[in-house]
Parts: sequence; structure tokens; C-alpha cells
Amino acid sequence: MSKIKNLQKEMLRYENITYLKKNMILLYGYIMLILLKIKLKKLKKFDNIRFAQKSCSNINILKIIKSYGVKVDAVSLGEIIRALTAGFTSKNNDLVFTSDILEDKTLKKIIQYHIPVNIGSLNMIEKIGKISPKHPVWLRINPKFGDGHHIKTNTGGENSKHGIWDINKAISDLKYYNLSLIGLHMHIGSGINLDNIKKMCDSMIQCALNINQKIQFISAGGGLNIPYKPHEKEINLEFYYNMWNKTRNFISSQLSCPIKLEVEPGRFIVAQSGVLITQVCAVKQMGNNCFIIINSGFNDLIRPMLYGSYHKISVIHQLNKMPIVQSTTDYIIAGPLCESGDLFTTNHEGLLLKRTLPTVIPGDYIIIHDTGAYGASMSSNYNSRPLIPEILYQNNNFYTIRKRQKIKDLIQLEL
Ligand SMILES: *Cc1c(COP(=O)(O)O)cnc(C)c1O
Repeated sequence: MSKIKNLQKEMLRYENITYLKKNMILLYGYIMLILLKIKLKKLKKFDNIRFAQKSCSNINILKIIKSYGVKVDAVSLGEIIRALTAGFTSKNNDLVFTSDILEDKTLKKIIQYHIPVNIGSLNMIEKIGKISPKHPVWLRINPKFGDGHHIKTNTGGENSKHGIWDINKAISDLKYYNLSLIGLHMHIGSGINLDNIKKMCDSMIQCALNINQKIQFISAGGGLNIPYKPHEKEINLEFYYNMWNKTRNFISSQLSCPIKLEVEPGRFIVAQSGVLITQVCAVKQMGNNCFIIINSGFNDLIRPMLYGSYHKISVIHQLNKMPIVQSTTDYIIAGPLCESGDLFTTNHEGLLLKRTLPTVIPGDYIIIHDTGAYGASMSSNYNSRPLIPEILYQNNNFYTIRKRQKIKDLIQLEL
């Protein structure tokens, strides 16, 4: 980890900030390659690592991820096109489409490229079965319970729309339509607690025995959390892998066939590789509260607003404007949007929280950490603010991997 810390420091050297200031002013998804590599290495015991691209879907990042031998998941036609553009093919199950629906245009592309489909509803079986018999499919099982860092990211149980509930019916439908079942998949939520892993594994075993036919893969899904808060620990991957490995071995022996074990994280791979660099535009005392208003809002990073998520926040003073005496202030950090909920420091209930930071003045930089996942990929044009650039930091160089959107392009569809 010290390697990463050093790199982080290195990246935030004043020369770099000058560069950023000159060239971008504001940027996003500042991805550090070395960190990606370290995260992937931690997962190397799994037979397949499948990157959940919805966490960070920039084509340039997908290309890098592909170069490390990682597979990819797509959850929409747009994500399929991104994966194909980055060079992924359906060969070796490298690209899998996961969804609960199949729209006509998506289905057409899936058949054209023979992309395996991870099925989340009985309607999908009918839809693909009717026109593409023998199509390779996975079943995404809803194990009837879920988990996640927030109720909105819990993807199991009867309060979730995701996955197959009635396995027996799914199996008989697969047989009826002559689809070829290659794997079983379970993703119970994003930001899962390892206490649930045994329950998940038991459910996978039951399901596999129930189905009682040869399969090639099982997938543990994603959801592996990262330490966002200072006291939080890294996930115990050894325990996680061992539980799933045992599960795989047992199913493999019961079904008498070799089975590959997949894992499908998004956040775990990219979250810590990204920082959002913003600038202080105003400092406002409002009664007892001191607000900093920065030039990024929930259109750029929605996690705090949507989930009450915590992100580490740090300050870099402007060049030549280092304060003579360092003091701290308790701040509430807000964005520029015309909406009072545009805040980066709230709890799960949306209540304001204060963050103690070095005292800042307009022009200083506010760095929001761990924004490599569900940052840029969840950004929007709310308040007609254009998408901000994404910059890749590699071998001491900065590369723009997504240009700043022009307002001209933003309004184009309406003209
Ligand atoms: C979102 C999602 C993931 C990744 O979740 P993370 O929390 O980013 O690891 C994996 N699989 C499926 C099907 C998903 O929808």
C-alpha cells in the first residue's frame, strides 16, 4: 500500500496541479494504473475475473483491463458496444450480457455477435429461445436474500427486481427452448458483508444440485467493498476465495464436471484508482454552518447525494498561496447545482455532516477520493452542466481519455 500512497503523493505534487490547472481546471476519473494492477493481482486465484463495467465504463479503461486478461460484463446495448469497441469478443465467454430484460435492438446485437446472456427473468428465456436456439446462457439466481451498502444497492430477496426466483420453471423453460446452460451466477448486492458469504455459497450449492446438469462456470458476482472510511478494513479476500473455492469443488464433484470459478467486481477493481479534483469557488458562513461551494456537483459524483456515501476529502492549497499558519475549519461541502441536496457531506438520512479540513480560500483544490467507481459512469447533465474530462495518469504522463463535453454537443439533440 505504501507504493500507492507514494504515487498518490507524487500525483498531487504541485507541478502536476499546475498542469491540471492550466489544462483542465476540473477533471475526473484520474485513474492510476499501478493501483488497478495491484487490485487485479489480489483476485488472481479466481479462474476468471469479470469486470463489471458499469462502475467505470470508459473505453480506454476497458482496453487496459482487457490487456490484463480480464473479462467484462455488459448490462445494456451501450455497454456491449463499449466492450466491442474496446476489443472484447464473445470468444471464451469474454463478454457476457447480464440483464432482467432483452430489448429488441440489444437482442439483435447479442445474436449477431453470439454473446452469452446471463438471464434474469423468464421472459428473457422466451425471447432469446424463440429466435436463437442453443444460445449459451447463464442463470442469474436470486437466492431470496440480498445485501449491500445501501437499500438501493441490494439486489436479492423479494424486494429486488433482479434475478430468477423460480429455478425449476427456468430450467424447464431452458429445456423447452433448447438453450444451452453454461453457468450459474449470483450477485446479491453492491457493498456486501462477508457474513453472508456462507449463506450465498449454500444457496449456490442447493441450486446446482437442484438443476443437476453439467455446467462450466459458477460466478460469485461482485459487490466486494473497499475501505471508504479511515477505520474501515480491506475485505478478507482469502476467506472470500476459500469459501467460493470450496463451493466450486463440491459442486464440481457432485455434478462430475470441471467448473471454473468467476468473480465479477466493479468497485473493488477501480474505486481507489480515481480521484475527483475540484476547486473551491465560494466559502459561505450560513448561521452555524460554514459551506464550501466547489465546481463539481452531484451531476459529477452522485454517490453522496444518492446513498449518503462517505468519501475521503482532502485539500491542496493553490501554488504560492500556502497559508502561513495552518488552521482547520468544520465545513459542509456543497456543489454548484440549483438544488439544496447538492452536498458531498451527508449521512444515509441526508442530514448534513461537517468535515474538518484545512481552512481554504477560493481557488484551493478539494480532492474527493475513491471516485474511480460509480463516479464518471453515473454522471449526468443535470442543470445543463457538461460532462467533465477524465484523465489517465500513466508513466508520469497525463492523457485525456474523455474530453470535456461541449455545451454545443449537449444541446445538439434538441435543435
Ligand atoms: C453492479 C454489478 C456488479 C458489480 O458490483 P460492484 O459492487 O461494483 O462490485 C456485478 N455484477 C452485477 C450483475 C452487477 O449488477
